[in-house]
Amino acid sequence: MTLSDRDLSQLDTDYLDDLPEGQLRSLSKQLLVDLKEARERLKQSPETSSRPPSSRELWKASEPHTPDVVDNPSEADEHAPDPTAPCQDSTQAVTVDASVPESKSTANTAQPKKTGRQPGSSGHSRSLTLAVTKTLQHHPECCANCHNAFPQGTTYRVWTGRYELELESGSAEAPKLQIEHIRHDYLSATCACDHETQAMPGQCADDPEWAVSLTEWHLCGPRLVSFLVCLALYLRVSRRKIQAFLRDWLGIDLSTSTINQCIHEAGRAVAPVVDEQLIAELNTSALLHIDETPWKEAGKLFWLWVFVSAQTVVYQVGKRHRLVVQQLLGTAFNGFLMTDGFSVYRIFPKRLRCWAHLVRKARALHQCLDSQGQAFGEALLLAMILLMRNIHQLRESPEDADALRAQNQTLLDWLRTLCETHQTVAHGDSRKLAGEFLNDWDAIVRVIETPSHPLTNNVAERSLRHWVLLRKITFGSRTAQGSRVIALLASVIDTARLRQLNPWNFIAQVLANRRKNHPAPRLPMPLVG
Ligand SMILES: [Zn+2]
Repeated sequence: MTLSDRDLSQLDTDYLDDLPEGQLRSLSKQLLVDLKEARERLKQSPETSSRPPSSRELWKASEPHTPDVVDNPSEADEHAPDPTAPCQDSTQAVTVDASVPESKSTANTAQPKKTGRQPGSSGHSRSLTLAVTKTLQHHPECCANCHNAFPQGTTYRVWTGRYELELESGSAEAPKLQIEHIRHDYLSATCACDHETQAMPGQCADDPEWAVSLTEWHLCGPRLVSFLVCLALYLRVSRRKIQAFLRDWLGIDLSTSTINQCIHEAGRAVAPVVDEQLIAELNTSALLHIDETPWKEAGKLFWLWVFVSAQTVVYQVGKRHRLVVQQLLGTAFNGFLMTDGFSVYRIFPKRLRCWAHLVRKARALHQCLDSQGQAFGEALLLAMILLMRNIHQLRESPEDADALRAQNQTLLDWLRTLCETHQTVAHGDSRKLAGEFLNDWDAIVRVIETPSHPLTNNVAERSLRHWVLLRKITFGSRTAQGSRVIALLASVIDTARLRQLNPWNFIAQVLANRRKNHPAPRLPMPLVG
């Protein structure tokens, strides 16, 4: 824009009437440039810019739009407008609206309300009204001193105990959802060597990186914790609604801070699965999709990164910096990276560019108000559509390869000449896009040499979508630990789904092991065949 809001506010018809012809002409040209730019911005849509589909006005959400670039034409329907999309948008709007009164009430007070229990509010303590449904006894395995087993007839005595709430989901034949209230008794015994040994609830050593302990002393059992993770992260239910749901449907009363502690403990439990197993597996993959989306942590802007291979998904919350990628991918990584045009990826030589982003940019140019830009956009679109058609055909019928490859070479030469001639034109957007094609040429045309590579980064963008909705509902996380917990659990949930495993059983199993200070189990690869 050439004129600021302040400049515009000083212009009126009287001012224009008094202006000499020469100055009026020059002002008109400035106004014309600004008007065209403003109109183009107004016309931006998810088809012609990087704006997400959710930015579309609610009343336009159900309108059909031209399908985006797809890797497999038969999959085109998957990417066509989702008939449930308007519903998603409206639930989202409702959820966000529902939280407005809460934030308004905080805005009324002079100072921002601190989180957690407020002075004067009634406390939350556990009332033991729930009957004990099961009692489990834990015996010491052997003498801690001389390691001899306790002989038959040893007298044990209960020295401590704890209560546990655990979710029982029954079996495949008889499914149910029920809370067990279990009393665990811990016994002690005295050995012939005169040493008294006590059975103890399991506990993992404290870790300075984590402000939550991993221990069997906690009230909620591993399956109940996994259920809470599912409600909070997979179904995107707020802590307060989870609390009401548990009270209404399962008859248990947990404070929101207990629910939060459970989710953080699950995050700490799965950390070795992600840090030691999944990241190592990513580094051996032949192709990795990477994308990033804004994330809020305590109101500050961070980025949620996703790394997706054929069988692994890893999320990280961090800055928008190449160090995030470099730290996650070791120097040994030798696969291809599929990315958008973000400059931090340029240091990786084996890279593929997402064509969906390029098609959107060419389409925006085709719809701009500059005649030179329109013609360039149209030519780019045509070249890309013909090339994509050939790529799909090469994948399906490699026997026609020679003819198709010759055609592709002609199209590529044309595309290159187009970009080179538009590198220095007057129209700014045309110049910019021509430059982008030429600067990233190898990454863009790599898929033409090897049509089995993907054309788009849809895989990574689809992975992020669920967590973007979570961010919109929860406004992100409040602490660095909260961000890490979401990234770790999201990695395990999405990888398990990709490997066709039940993520909730796995999270419960990891937590049960880690609370006993045993190593976390590995997330298995899918069975072949
Ligand atoms: Zn002994």
